[in-house]
Amino acid sequence: MQSELSIVWIYPDLLSTYGDQGNVLVLEHRARARGIATRTIHVRSADPVPQQGNIYLLGGGEDRPQILGAERLRRDGGLRTAVARGAALLAVCAGYQIMGSVFGGEDGRPVEGIGLLDISSGRGERRAVGELAADVDPALGGLPRLTGFENHMGVTRLGPGVRPLSRTIVGTGNGDGTEGCYAGRVIGTYLHGPALARNPALADLLLSWVVGPLTPIDDSWYQRLREERLTAVLPPA
Ligand code: GLN
Repeated sequence: MQSELSIVWIYPDLLSTYGDQGNVLVLEHRARARGIATRTIHVRSADPVPQQGNIYLLGGGEDRPQILGAERLRRDGGLRTAVARGAALLAVCAGYQIMGSVFGGEDGRPVEGIGLLDISSGRGERRAVGELAADVDPALGGLPRLTGFENHMGVTRLGPGVRPLSRTIVGTGNGDGTEGCYAGRVIGTYLHGPALARNPALADLLLSWVVGPLTPIDDSWYQRLREERLTAVLPPA
């Protein structure tokens, strides 16, 4: 295990809607609770993306900041190098769409993504807004049901190079009954909330990819939030 975990928060000035920065706080907290020191780097969009980080995070954004963020990330190339080195990445909503080959920009015009995930996104007929609950791909080791909320126009098609992260029970997600996707150590999702505060097992999955097996910690506050949200959206059994 290494001595210091470096967390890279990409473009807080462009991509950080709906509390997505909470994902950074949850990772820091859950690492420190295991005695792992952390260092977080906030990379503004005018700055180069460092290539030596361990976990990279991107959040959601409005259409114009999303287009700008995609252009800058493409030109920068640092994220691609980091992922090729084995870094983990969680990309949320606009950040998720940017990871694909293309996404629907303003008026649905296609905008080139950075191609780190084998997905392509367009714009749907209507905005998907509301709570989302979804069952995680069992291949990821038996993670509990996902909870979060979504607010996007995107419809995302998954290619053969990725697996769906989960199957939706409530909500729209990718638009085909699945929500998010993953390949290697890269996870994309439409879940806000923030995703890692509502789904600490997802935070631990990212951490375990880069630091190895983790000891259990007190999850009671996370559990209360999860129960409250899941009970609010799922029909009684
Ligand atoms: N602008 C994108 C969309 O509407 C992403 C929105 C978001 O990140 N919440 O699809």
